[in-house]
Amino acid sequence: MLELEQAVEKILAAIPAPKSEVIPLAEAFGRIVAEKILAATDLPPFDNSAVDGYAVRAQDVATASAQNPVILQLTGRIAAGEHFTSRLSAGQCIRIFTGSPVPAGADAIVMQEDTKVDAGRANQIQFLDSVKPWENIRFHGEDVKRGAVIIQSGEKLGAAHIGLLAATGNGQLTVNRRPTVALLATGSELREPAGTPSTCSASSLAPGQIFESNRAALTPLIAATGAIPKIFPIVPDAAEATRAALARAFAECDIVLTCGGVSVGEMDFVKSAFEELGGQLDFWKVAIKPGRPFVFGRLGEKFLFGLPGNPISAFVTFLLLARPALPRWQGATNVTLPASLGILAEPFSNPDQRRHFVRINVDNSGQVHSAGTQASHILSSLAVANGLIDVHPKTTLASGTIVRVLRWE
Ligand code: AMP
Ligand code: MG
Repeated sequence: MLELEQAVEKILAAIPAPKSEVIPLAEAFGRIVAEKILAATDLPPFDNSAVDGYAVRAQDVATASAQNPVILQLTGRIAAGEHFTSRLSAGQCIRIFTGSPVPAGADAIVMQEDTKVDAGRANQIQFLDSVKPWENIRFHGEDVKRGAVIIQSGEKLGAAHIGLLAATGNGQLTVNRRPTVALLATGSELREPAGTPSTCSASSLAPGQIFESNRAALTPLIAATGAIPKIFPIVPDAAEATRAALARAFAECDIVLTCGGVSVGEMDFVKSAFEELGGQLDFWKVAIKPGRPFVFGRLGEKFLFGLPGNPISAFVTFLLLARPALPRWQGATNVTLPASLGILAEPFSNPDQRRHFVRINVDNSGQVHSAGTQASHILSSLAVANGLIDVHPKTTLASGTIVRVLRWE
């Protein structure tokens, strides 16, 4: 039996180096950067005003106050996007707006609120306050210097990264390719869920049948990693059908996830079908609960994750074992689940020999409650849960213990 961390390490070690592609910035959200990205321009690209007001020489308004205003001659106006070619001279000011380039000769901007203009003397601006040299000026290159590294290789692009890329002139970028991930559910008892809640009653199931739910639950978890999920038809428990389904999935996708049919039961065909296709199984028992059985295999540069069929086991083994491979395939530096700290609102016990990943709900103040019944077929408690906590074998965690909560959304 393998420890979880050993299993993940073996899986990650098998994943090949990523392949890159160039994409437009508009498609970059969630993608993994293939090589460090440099700023294509200084940011800001020129000295500009932080306020609406007047560009001045600070020394010209040094004595200004509400009681003794200083009057300067208005000699121009620079709207955002315009550019002023002549130079500000002593005794002059220029109307300026937030983001407008600071004219040559000016060394400060006085806010509009600190000025006054009398009717009929529109060119005589009265300054009611002084200003320090360089006040209200945003400097050329103070945010980012052209050529500086703004995003490291292996980072996942979020909205703020994309804003920075756009602001520094990167209209396209090199990211890593995303794997297509086949989702196969095996089991002759499985039926496609169909219809609306009112029309889709259990009467559309023959005795012994259940609705298939693992492909639907895993699809958004796969998509959240940036990988591209692809749902395949339900596979009945039969050797030839399993072989044909696996062959098609491997032909069309980079990674194949199956659920069900990997235990020692007589009706379990995934392992033998995979080996008949030339696949090589690396291991199949990991010391976590829920979780057994679990299969990892390689077929050339492609990979099989054989998850257990029980819905909670499939969900949890996906998160803990299969999921890290998806960002790693894309060259991501961080392959771990999002996590946060929480505080136990009740005690948690694990009398078992295996680590138990317990379904919990953590509220916005960090209080961690059990999500309910923990058996591996209970879907309703998974729906209450928004995280998992790792309770080690033969351990009781007292109420008040600080724990790490693994999240999936
Ligand atoms: P297996 O791993 O195939 O032995 O399945 C274990 C349990 O999970 C059985 O009760 C199956 O009916 C159930 N199960 C297997 N696959 C699915 C699935 N895709 N959706 C819902 N339940 C499943
Ligand atoms: Mg089965």
